[in-house]
Amino acid sequence: MIQIDDLGLRYATARGAIDALSGVTLTIGRGEFVSIVGPSGCGKSTLLSVLGGLLRPTAGRVLIGGEPVTDPSPRLGFAFQDPVQLRFGGVSRHRERAQSLLEMVGLKGFESNYPKELSGGMRQRVAIARALLLDPEVLLMDEPFGALDAITRERMGYELLRIWQGSGKTVVFVTHGISEAVFLSDRVIAMSARPGRVIDDRRIELPRPRTPTSQEDPRFLEAARILRGLLMGPEDAVQAQQPAERQPRSAASSRVPT
Ligand code: ADP
Repeated sequence: MIQIDDLGLRYATARGAIDALSGVTLTIGRGEFVSIVGPSGCGKSTLLSVLGGLLRPTAGRVLIGGEPVTDPSPRLGFAFQDPVQLRFGGVSRHRERAQSLLEMVGLKGFESNYPKELSGGMRQRVAIARALLLDPEVLLMDEPFGALDAITRERMGYELLRIWQGSGKTVVFVTHGISEAVFLSDRVIAMSARPGRVIDDRRIELPRPRTPTSQEDPRFLEAARILRGLLMGPEDAVQAQQPAERQPRSAASSRVPT
């Protein structure tokens, strides 16, 4: 469904060129749920913008369904962390679908509410519904649950899987949450620090549907452990597994991510 060949993206800035992506090669199958994890600033959002036709690559190419991506297209739906535009703009043509999508994301009855009257989780549901409005084949999600509290975030993960399951849609999900990536995905792609390159492409062999006990599955724990080691270095990964009280407070707070 998505073919990324030797992709590079260089930003030209007043202070010189910034290589955000370099030599990224990746193939994503139709209907796959793929997460991209990596340190902040490694080019995850840049990659998503290129996939969505919002940015032109400076090297390599991206094909979606065999066709080069040149512009944003209704085949691609975007959901971001901060849903700035919450209204279903120009929905009159799609009113029925908008209604059924709002119902699907659990917002039936809230059609007339103002954004400020909705909780963070509800706003994110609107963002997902909006991304699905034109029935895209590919859903591009950039840290969509990043601003939510831990419980709402986990709940939204289940909601997203419920919506995705059986839809045939391909999802590319950017996150810096390793556990979230493993829990949700068929595959997790780990990227290096800038310029972003693919350093690991890992299939998550966990049965679906995923349930709360999926997170206790040895395959979940193993994948998360390996990814943590790759992204943080083996020493940090080992420390993170030690009981907290055995670590000096300063080392624990400076090394273990939240
Ligand atoms: P991530 O999503 O992984 O945090 P980004 O794709 O946002 O990373 O950014 C990758 C790198 O490119 C960062 O160093 C960032 O500062 C830089 N960058 C992002 N957008 C621009 C831009 N419009 N102009 C110049 N540099 C940018």
